[in-house]
Amino acid sequence: MADCIFCRIIAGEIPSNKVYENEYVYAFRDINPQAPVHILVIPKEHIASVGEITPENSVLAAKCMEAVAEIARQENLEGGFRVISNCGKDAGQTVPHLHFHILAGKSMGEKLL
Ligand code: 5GP
Ligand code: ZN
Repeated sequence: MADCIFCRIIAGEIPSNKVYENEYVYAFRDINPQAPVHILVIPKEHIASVGEITPENSVLAAKCMEAVAEIARQENLEGGFRVISNCGKDAGQTVPHLHFHILAGKSMGEKLL
């Protein structure tokens, strides 16, 4: 999608600090980090949010989760990490391209769950 910020990052039209990449997934550091480690994991194919995952595209969500585990090893996150995906307005999603936040590097005491 030409007007999607994350599609433009994948295309190299907007610079990003790459952490990991494979055939299906791209991961990069969040521009406004909310923890010492804050990485975004996104599928290379545009999916708007978790709410748009279907039987046809769910393999890409699984590939994102495989990448999360690989990045956790790569970034030495043995102290733990949190994975968040905001979906839609009430959850505060600001970029309508499926993404999983990896947050780590500090103790996250305030829990929603
Ligand atoms: P959301 O609020 O949709 O869950 O998360 C979107 C995230 O994308 C935010 O944490 C925001 O800081 C990040 N973000 C937005 N635009 C850019 C950008 O151009 N580059 C990078 N690296 N992160 C971005
Ligand atoms: Zn997109």
